Amino acid sequence: NEFVREEFSKGTLRNKTVEDVLTPLEECFMLNANAVLDFNNMSMIMQSGYTRIPVYEDERTNLVDMLYVKDLALVDPDDCTPLSTIIKFYNHPLHFVFNDTKLDAVLEEFKRGKSHMAIIQKVNNEGEGDPFYEVMGLVTLEDVIQEIIKSE
Ligand code: ATP
Ligand code: ATP
Repeated sequence: NEFVREEFSKGTLRNKTVEDVLTPLEECFMLNANAVLDFNNMSMIMQSGYTRIPVYEDERTNLVDMLYVKDLALVDPDDCTPLSTIIKFYNHPLHFVFNDTKLDAVLEEFKRGKSHMAIIQKVNNEGEGDPFYEVMGLVTLEDVIQEIIKSE
């Protein structure tokens, strides 16, 4: 019945964390900030099928920006526009959350904010050096909805 099911999915959202549902960084489709929007790269972006594409500088762990596929609507591949020109123009914010954030909290943020993607980071204090923030992967609204559907 409706009530039990509702309480159950609320429980899942309260107990599970973003780390439980994230898409790991190795599997993320991302772009190097120094890429050029030529025909090859634009085709690759369209073929990836993703709407939101994180942009990194130098290393894949260093996320600096976000490209939305719709940002490419006015880009002509013949112009070979630098990706950096487009991301600076649109300047979409990145949304970082910690790995232990509960799904209900991130769902609230998705509802409140404009972005439906969060970058998941953790504090890495293994090893000798100072602790640092380490990017683990990404979570979208879709990942949270999947959990709700699974628990029903
Ligand atoms: P939309 O459905 O809003 O067009 P989308 O299809 O690009 O967006 P989502 O539906 O939000 O993506 O997510 C579907 C799955 O793909 C989720 O598991 C999500 O974590 C993953 N995902 C989203 N963007 C990327 C990306 N750039 N690289 C790898 N996985 C991604
Ligand atoms: P995305 O967030 O994946 O880039 P979007 O911003 O175009 O997509 P949604 O976030 O899916 O759209 O929807 C936001 C709101 O805008 C919803 O209320 C939806 O019904 C409405 N909406 C979406 N597309 C249109 C459209 N073509 N015309 C009017 N309203 C729309």
